[in-house]
Amino acid sequence: MLKKKEAIIIGAGLAGATVANILAKKNYKIIVYEKNNFIGGNCFDYYRKNILIHKYGPHIFHTNKKEIYDFVCKYTKLNNFINKVYVRHKNLLFPLPINFTSIKIIAKDDANYIIQKLKKKFGKTKLITLSQLKQINDAKIKKFYHFIFQNVYANYTAKMWGVKFDKVNPKTINRVKIILGDEHNYFPQDKYQGLPINTYTQMITKMFEHKNIKINLKIDGKKVLKFDFKNKKIYLNKTKFNGLIFYCGSLDELANYKFGILPYRSLKIEFLLKKMKKFQQNAIINYPSHPKMTRICEYKLMTQQKNIDNTIISKEYPKPFILSNKQCNHRFYPIINKKNLVKYNRYLRLFKIFPNFYPLGRLGLYKYFDMDDTIEYAMKLANSFH
Ligand SMILES: Cc1cc2nc3c(=O)[nH]c(=O)nc-3n(C[C@H](O)[C@H](O)[C@H](O)COP(=O)(O)OP(=O)(O)OC[C@H]3O[C@@H](n4cnc5c(N)ncnc54)[C@H](O)[C@@H]3O)c2cc1C
Repeated sequence: MLKKKEAIIIGAGLAGATVANILAKKNYKIIVYEKNNFIGGNCFDYYRKNILIHKYGPHIFHTNKKEIYDFVCKYTKLNNFINKVYVRHKNLLFPLPINFTSIKIIAKDDANYIIQKLKKKFGKTKLITLSQLKQINDAKIKKFYHFIFQNVYANYTAKMWGVKFDKVNPKTINRVKIILGDEHNYFPQDKYQGLPINTYTQMITKMFEHKNIKINLKIDGKKVLKFDFKNKKIYLNKTKFNGLIFYCGSLDELANYKFGILPYRSLKIEFLLKKMKKFQQNAIINYPSHPKMTRICEYKLMTQQKNIDNTIISKEYPKPFILSNKQCNHRFYPIINKKNLVKYNRYLRLFKIFPNFYPLGRLGLYKYFDMDDTIEYAMKLANSFH
């Protein structure tokens, strides 16, 4: 007898939508459970006072992978936004990644000397790492390196991850890139970049549109699934379920925190309506030397909404993730280190005994995934089924 093709997806974010989209076309009957009353997960965007904003902070789609770009383009057109981030440090405002313009603004009289040295040393190379800059034995370059290491990167990283300045791992920072030229682009390695001309929510809704997909909002996956660890069986609403199960939530939550809480970094995002056409020079400005805030985003400048008199900005304040505190119990970034990965792997082993269970997405896999990585992983997984 032919086996029924069925799948359950917990989580209606980008990962869940990608898997649903691919499996529906392979004739799977899919039921999605999403605990929120909206779809899109972290990519969810909506209109407030006619201005499109991103609930979980600014999202810019960028990738170098044509296959992922082509996939996204089936569900939305992208606008031509290029993310030109600035850094505000005291009275200075300069591009990030650091480029020749930044060098001129920061190093002033030494700038030409530094740029010529870099051109001579690296020739036509477009990108170098901070660590390559550090290794150059030249007093003026060393002074410049120390300035940006401390004021641009270490301060920001310490605040972002909640560690003391001297506990920031220089190895991580030294991997950041410097652009040898005047190109101002936060994603210089990526060929494709932009935001949906309408919304991410509409794009993801379209990905879910198929007669084989049924979405249930406001239902927590933990409540509909029961795990029988002894007999290695999973029950859906009390009936044994032999189909595929994709879980886009955090595994510690699913296991009732049996091995403890998986650490994440959270954010307080403060949205402010400003009665002016434009608030700042560019969509994203980082504030590494601010005591608490990391960046300000102005959404209109990314979404390219026109003819609106007001504008909305968001200010981001990194916080520890605390399960019992409503202000910071959203899981924004997994804190990936050896200790936390050991804990995550214990959870993974716990659920691995179920052959039809697949953790998915940035929470299920406990990985920092950009949108293109999220889609790529989900695509590969979905394509591994017939
Ligand atoms: C602040 C921030 C900025 C970012 N900016 C960018 C950017 O500029 N560019 C970029 O490429 N990427 C960016 N990303 C990454 C991007 O958000 C992710 O790649 C993408 O959203 C991951 O999708 P996902 O489906 O794995 O997870 P999520 O978006 O988290 O979706 C998971 C879904 O599962 C649901 N869920 C979880 N548990 C349960 C449960 N028990 N029952 C029912 N539903 C459940 C959640 O409610 C959610 O809807 C950013 C991420 C953050 C945090």
